[in-house]
Amino acid sequence: MARTVLDEIRESVPARMELNVPMADHTTLRVGGAADVVVYPEDRDALARLLGLLAARDVPWIVLGNGSNLVVRDGGIRGAVVSLGDGFDAVEDRGEDGDGRRLVRVEAGVGLRRLVRWSVDQGVGGFEFLVGIPGSVGGALAMNAGAWEAEIGDRVEELEVLVPGEGLRLLSRDELAFRYRGVDLPEGAVVVGAILAGQPSDPEHVKARAKELYQRRRETQPVGRPSAGSVFRNPASGPPAGWLIEDCGLKGVRVGDAEVSQIHANFIVNAGRAKASHVVSLIGMIQERVYVNHKVKLETEVQIVGDWEKGKLRIQE
Ligand SMILES: Cc1cc2nc3c(=O)[nH]c(=O)nc-3n(C[C@H](O)[C@H](O)[C@H](O)COP(=O)(O)OP(=O)(O)OC[C@H]3O[C@@H](n4cnc5c(N)ncnc54)[C@H](O)[C@@H]3O)c2cc1C
Repeated sequence: MARTVLDEIRESVPARMELNVPMADHTTLRVGGAADVVVYPEDRDALARLLGLLAARDVPWIVLGNGSNLVVRDGGIRGAVVSLGDGFDAVEDRGEDGDGRRLVRVEAGVGLRRLVRWSVDQGVGGFEFLVGIPGSVGGALAMNAGAWEAEIGDRVEELEVLVPGEGLRLLSRDELAFRYRGVDLPEGAVVVGAILAGQPSDPEHVKARAKELYQRRRETQPVGRPSAGSVFRNPASGPPAGWLIEDCGLKGVRVGDAEVSQIHANFIVNAGRAKASHVVSLIGMIQERVYVNHKVKLETEVQIVGDWEKGKLRIQE
């Protein structure tokens, strides 16, 4: 029998694999059909081999962080989902640099929650704004996650990326152009880690600031309910997306179990058994109403990926 892509991965890539994986279990909004396969490469070398093999066999792939900014369509994902988990979870204190800043090297699979906890324990200021963002370091860097007028891109000294066909590249601060919820990376690059810089500070002060920002989040966002965070990007000028949506009277409006949050109108929550089709219909409805009432075209911040129909699997035994 002909060797399948799965056989080749098993033979040459140190990685765990799961087949036919419901993406609702891997995304914070908890919608989405199954991916053909989720591959968890053990380390950078395994990741490089995996990407080489997928390219050689022309298999489409996406990289998954914590799935907190993703809407996966109901037919799932044909091809491979690459997850940087356990093999990419180091947090390494690099001490102070010549300018008195405190450096830390973090790998892409580290949860932002762990990074914030590290900064509190060590008394390193500058990461408190990340409290309550349920992403991974890799996802946060790819998305240039931000809150309370700060962005993770502002803390980056060096970015470690794996470029398919090229290998590991270190991109210094000057080579990087972070923008609102994004950064320009070489084609197909996967973020594997970064060196970030904070300021030495009093641990009690850092803790108090993180606590305060978490409290503010709890008061203004549907914390604890399944969502993908802010659905729309804020327009470059004028009122923010949440204000525009609320002004259209859309809080609480539902399509199926997808609901515009009563607490923050730029969040869609899964109120039970929402499907991606409900979420995407609701997104369309919001865009239409905001355009009619305010002549503003809202663009999504969440990323909508995958297929509507299951179709023919791209990878199988
Ligand atoms: C309750 C809640 C609150 C939120 N609040 C905020 C907020 O205040 N500010 C904010 O900016 N966002 C917020 N978000 C959105 C989300 O958490 C962020 O965008 C986060 O940075 C996404 O990280 P992730 O690991 O979950 O990425 P994923 O959702 O898994 O992926 C997002 C994108 O990044 C890409 N990606 C992931 N990992 C890598 C990698 N290693 N290399 C290259 N590309 C990669 C993916 O392919 C995808 O395109 C919130 C979400 C929720 C659910």
